[in-house]
Amino acid sequence: MGLVRLENIDKNYRVGEVEVEALREVSVEIGKGAFVSFIGPSGSGKTTLLNIIGCLDKPSRGRAEVAGQEISGFSRRRAAEFRGENIGFVFQSFNLLPVLTVAENVEYPLVMVKKIAAAERKRLVKQMLEVVGLADQAGKYPDAISGGQKQRVAVARALVTKPELVLADEPTANLDHATAGVVMNLMKRLRNEFGTTFIFSTHDPRIIDQVDAKFTLLDGRLTNNGSETGEYHV
Ligand code: ADP
Ligand code: MG
Repeated sequence: MGLVRLENIDKNYRVGEVEVEALREVSVEIGKGAFVSFIGPSGSGKTTLLNIIGCLDKPSRGRAEVAGQEISGFSRRRAAEFRGENIGFVFQSFNLLPVLTVAENVEYPLVMVKKIAAAERKRLVKQMLEVVGLADQAGKYPDAISGGQKQRVAVARALVTKPELVLADEPTANLDHATAGVVMNLMKRLRNEFGTTFIFSTHDPRIIDQVDAKFTLLDGRLTNNGSETGEYHV
């Protein structure tokens, strides 16, 4: 059974008098432990689709299921709770909080969503920073580290709650070639170690080359509606 199941998803945005059709009849199934990407040109609907899977936005029509739960009817509060428990996010522009240190940025989701004692939070943060190779940067502020290091902090922050699913929207778009490779290898290693499912959006060939499957979006439609629920050996 798929971890993510979308059935005939439509999404319209209303801009003044104009209705923008951002997604049209998108059906897709993605299995646990998958390492897959939505690809397509700018404006094709990639971010809209990840936002729907991530409970940040709702479809106009269709069914969306994540981890066996129908998410499209969630209240704001339930959506926030579900995100906190099940989903990690990695963004193109890193989105670290500039007033928090590296360690505090990674700790943030634990503070927000889980009732975890401070000592346990510190232990989890330390463990994640070691996994991404940044234990020695824990006390620095985001301003003082490189773009690649920032994205590795963001990956640690996305994974610290041990979510089943990580959504990464063009995560290498602001990274140079070598750094993008390091970040991709890191995410693949985490998939292999923890069995975390990764769904990317990108038009970066460095991601496209590494994923198990790709789903192409064009003007809001998937050109290869289908499923990727094969057994992932992690
Ligand atoms: P991509 O991530 O592939 O670049 P998006 O999902 O951001 O594509 O956008 C898909 C379409 O929906 C585009 O035509 C975009 O202009 C439109 N769109 C996205 N978000 C909004 C919004 N909040 N309001 C109105 N139109 C939007
Ligand atoms: Mg986008």
